[in-house]
Amino acid sequence: MAILYKTGILACSAPDTGEEDKILFELRKMEQDLAQSLQPGWLGRWEKKIKHLTPGPLIGEGMFGLVRKGKLRTFEGELAVAAKTVRVEDSQSYRDFYREAAILVAVHQQRDGDYRESNIVRLVGLITKSAEKYILLEYAPKGDLLGFLRRIKNHNKDGLLGNLLGYAVHIARALQELERLRIAHRDVAARNVLITADAVAKLADFGLARDVYATTQYVRCNRPGIDELLPLKWMALESIETGEYTCQSDVWSFGVLLWEIATLGKDPYYDGRMQLSFLQMVGILRQGIRLEKPPGCPEDLYRLMRSCWRDVPDTRPTPEEIEERLLQLRRALLPHDVIEMETVV
Ligand code: AMP
Repeated sequence: MAILYKTGILACSAPDTGEEDKILFELRKMEQDLAQSLQPGWLGRWEKKIKHLTPGPLIGEGMFGLVRKGKLRTFEGELAVAAKTVRVEDSQSYRDFYREAAILVAVHQQRDGDYRESNIVRLVGLITKSAEKYILLEYAPKGDLLGFLRRIKNHNKDGLLGNLLGYAVHIARALQELERLRIAHRDVAARNVLITADAVAKLADFGLARDVYATTQYVRCNRPGIDELLPLKWMALESIETGEYTCQSDVWSFGVLLWEIATLGKDPYYDGRMQLSFLQMVGILRQGIRLEKPPGCPEDLYRLMRSCWRDVPDTRPTPEEIEERLLQLRRALLPHDVIEMETVV
């Protein structure tokens, strides 16, 4: 027992309330609802020891964030984790890091005692007390949904779209979880959905490594006082115009995720153009132009996408309604309810 304590396995670090309060103060400036949903001790409760982490190969990379596969020593033995860390030590990177940590803690706190599978990536722990800081997540061996879609070889396989819509159902459930907490994800897209070993889609990436696909998927915003990379083609009109994000703006991005599924991971293009500036994008959306119906996409599915892209946020479907409509669509596409997630690639 003494050895376990000394090696830190039993030694639970006392929450550093000074540090926690400072971070909470910063979060409150950004997101009131998020800051309010955190219970005292939220940071310390998840703290793990750096010496229990063995970082492994790089699995994701961006200008601000890095993701490594790693092993965490726990009571039950070694656990495979994805360890996210900041690469550039500036205030924006740290803000993103703590925002992601805070959201994941809030989601897990809300689910306390609820043992149904969540569709938000599972938080394993946080390492915030060492110079190198980490967010430790369950490791999803199948990687992200975008890569998964792009690796599909047999595009004409029976039931392919119906099966893939199962992943969309999972993400509609993740949006319901976030809606309950009144938290907007801000970057719902296939690249930010992970597929677990049991073929469950989980929403991930609440802030870091967002420039991995910077060339076509993120555009630098130079509004006065703001300089960040934004996922323009996934963003709701009002988010582009005012910088405001809500659960309804996540629904808009979800519509683009449906389009990515229906095209097996194509890069969205408007009006035949891949790259658009902020002003061009606003002009196009204001004219009522939207992503086109992908070849072979059922009319009902495209109608659902279009409803996610309505100008007025309140008129977009709720995540519950989306889930219901997707389940109906799926039943129509998979009459015998064949669920074959494992065999679609
Ligand atoms: P993210 O910052 O979450 O977008 O991570 C960048 C990339 O790292 C993702 O696109 C994945 O390929 C990989 N990645 C992130 N988290 C995990 C995880 N929990 N399990 C496996 N791969 C991950």
